[in-house]
Amino acid sequence: MLAKRIVGAFAPEKIKLSRILIVDDQQAVLESMHALLRISGYQVEMASSGARALEFLKEGDFNLVLLDLRMPVVDGHSVLSAIGEQGIDVEVIVVSGETSFFAVKSAMRNGAYDFIRKPYEPEELLTTINNALEHYWQSRQRLVAEENLQRSESLHRFIVNNSPDFIYMLDAKGMFTYVNDKAEELLGYKRSELLATHFSRLIHPHNADDIYNFFAEQRSGTRSTTNTEIRLQVNQASRQVKCLDNFELLVELNAKGIYEVSEDGQRFFTGTLGCARDITARKRSEAQVSYQAYHDMLTSLPNRLLFNDRINQVFAHARRNRQKFALLFLDLDRFKEINDTLGHAMGDLVLQQASQRILDCLREEDTLCRFGGDEFALLLPDVETKQNVAAVAEKIIRAVRQPFHVKEHELFLSMSIGVAIYPKAGETTDSLLQSADIAMYHVKSNGKDGYCFYSDAMDGSDSTFLSVERDLYLALEKNQFEVFFQPKVDPTNHVIIGMEALLRWRHPEKGLIFPGDFIWIAEESKLIVPIGDWVLQTICKELVRWQRKGLPELKISVNISPVQLEQEDFVQNFIELLQRYGLRASIFELEVTEKGLLKGYSEMVKNLRQLREYGFSVAIDDFGRGYSSLSYLQNFPVNTLKIDRSFVREIQEESKESCVVNAIAMMAKGLNLHIVAEGVENLLQLDYLRNLGCCEVQGYLYGKALSASDTLAIFSERPAEGPHFILPN
Ligand code: C2E
Ligand code: MG
Ligand code: MG
Repeated sequence: MLAKRIVGAFAPEKIKLSRILIVDDQQAVLESMHALLRISGYQVEMASSGARALEFLKEGDFNLVLLDLRMPVVDGHSVLSAIGEQGIDVEVIVVSGETSFFAVKSAMRNGAYDFIRKPYEPEELLTTINNALEHYWQSRQRLVAEENLQRSESLHRFIVNNSPDFIYMLDAKGMFTYVNDKAEELLGYKRSELLATHFSRLIHPHNADDIYNFFAEQRSGTRSTTNTEIRLQVNQASRQVKCLDNFELLVELNAKGIYEVSEDGQRFFTGTLGCARDITARKRSEAQVSYQAYHDMLTSLPNRLLFNDRINQVFAHARRNRQKFALLFLDLDRFKEINDTLGHAMGDLVLQQASQRILDCLREEDTLCRFGGDEFALLLPDVETKQNVAAVAEKIIRAVRQPFHVKEHELFLSMSIGVAIYPKAGETTDSLLQSADIAMYHVKSNGKDGYCFYSDAMDGSDSTFLSVERDLYLALEKNQFEVFFQPKVDPTNHVIIGMEALLRWRHPEKGLIFPGDFIWIAEESKLIVPIGDWVLQTICKELVRWQRKGLPELKISVNISPVQLEQEDFVQNFIELLQRYGLRASIFELEVTEKGLLKGYSEMVKNLRQLREYGFSVAIDDFGRGYSSLSYLQNFPVNTLKIDRSFVREIQEESKESCVVNAIAMMAKGLNLHIVAEGVENLLQLDYLRNLGCCEVQGYLYGKALSASDTLAIFSERPAEGPHFILPN
């Protein structure tokens, strides 16, 4: 009962855990103690000699030894010494009849925790044991806690020093009291150089003032500095630092104030704990990503997205200051040929070189962008005069004309440039781009290799003219043209004796467009020259196809524009083309309009003569419309007059005599020319023309112009008899 009461103060699980060794040479003492302690719940062992006690202690885990001092052979003092020497982790209470002050004092000095005199009061013994065990467990706990603390401290030190971040502590005055190892690597300062110095030496002067407060943060909790980007100044003298761009290190800072509580309960600031993460690499890759989004990877020039951004800035500036600026649209001529013949890799190299050359012609404030392919846009802010812009355009054109050396090739290029000036040529990005684009195609259509201001291109033309011109240029590039064929028939036997080749434009949105709507634009812009070349080439290909299919040879009529005839090299090119396809000149009849001939350029007449010499026939198309005088016609080397369909339309039963066609027929006979007619739509017209001696007719009576494949189909229907028509009754 007594034991329980006393021991009750001591935690029961500790009692069960506690193992006690009783050492006494007197059996009676041993047993009585043993009994008392067992009742109290302790685990108890007995040793009747010092030697036995030492054996026990060596083997087992004891927490407490009750040790008699005076024993034969190995006495209590020796046991105590052995415990000390062997470092046995146990608490010792000396229980001895020996009362000598010195004996007890020496035992206590030797490591005993307490002593109790025999004979003892059980209550006293148990209290003493309790105290000793309490002490034992507490000191063990403290030991474990200290060990844990040490372990966690070394763990933290390890983490802090091996952290990729710069970690620091400041005192209340802003002096460094701690910096981790990373400081040297990131900032180039040795730990000793930073400790006890003020933090401001690390703050880049470009940072705003509040950065100082962030770095020496006094706030704690949620208001403290988190993920704030600042720049730190690195030690310029150090070779250690990796990040040397501008001697600054971009970091993301987390910092908080540290507080302690004084004895009178006041909270007071003791300093700052901060952690700065090097984000240079992250920023670099972010910058890389955004660079890629805004630049063309091939040339490193700004792309369309960045262009939009820049032009908006230029707009704002120009509006504010009432200034002009220029937008130039640049396109390399015949670049597609390089790509097609030498491959895209070579094309890319050319683009890189070309963009560098253009850049070399510019001021720093100008922006050159690549829109894709061989298209560039150039922004020239603050333009004072047109001449300034013209000078830049000329410089670029000259630079591009210089031969390009790409790998083993020497290439010659040129560039077409369209210029739009704000605000005259447009007040929005779209309208300016469109104007520059149209002006650029105006250059392309007029022989390329040059520049043109939108305002100049507009002279004498309206904007629809210019945009059709642009679309025509693109139609040629995109292969939107087709050649149709309309049969020319012998009116006496209705046999097809020839075909007139007629151009069609298969527009992706507007459908099939007839030449009346675009030929004149092509002629004015001189685009008719490349378009006409394309027509001739296409006809040659088709004729070869017909030959291969074994079709009878037909005369082929081709419309030639006066603009083509004016070209010095027209005849030469045509002859070369025929040679390439193995075709004879005599199967061609060239139709030239009367209106065209009236212009009477000498080059044209010279070319027509040459063509006649090569064996081509020449017909005057739409004859009668120009009211040309006969004497005038005699100057031209012509074989045939083709009566304009407006006169054919006039042929009616009742007005036979007054018909202009009669007059034309008479005229032709006098000049020894053939007459042919177009626009024959009914039998009346057919009979009339046949009676007049017209040897060929064409018109809806026999058929409209058909596509190349449909034409081939009508031949294939009756190959043996030769192509002919069955007329309606
Ligand atoms: P054109 O050389 O006088 O051609 C005859 C035009 O009359 C063609 O119009 C033809 O489709 C149309 N036609 C034929 N039969 C009849 C008919 O019975 N009734 C009516 N009302 N019309 C008929 P298209 O194809 O629209 O060509 C118009 C003009 O465009 C041509 O007149 C020619 O001057 C020019 N053209 C056509 N192709 C070319 C070309 O490749 N080069 C050049 N430079 N001009 C071309
Ligand atoms: Mg014609
Ligand atoms: Mg005609």
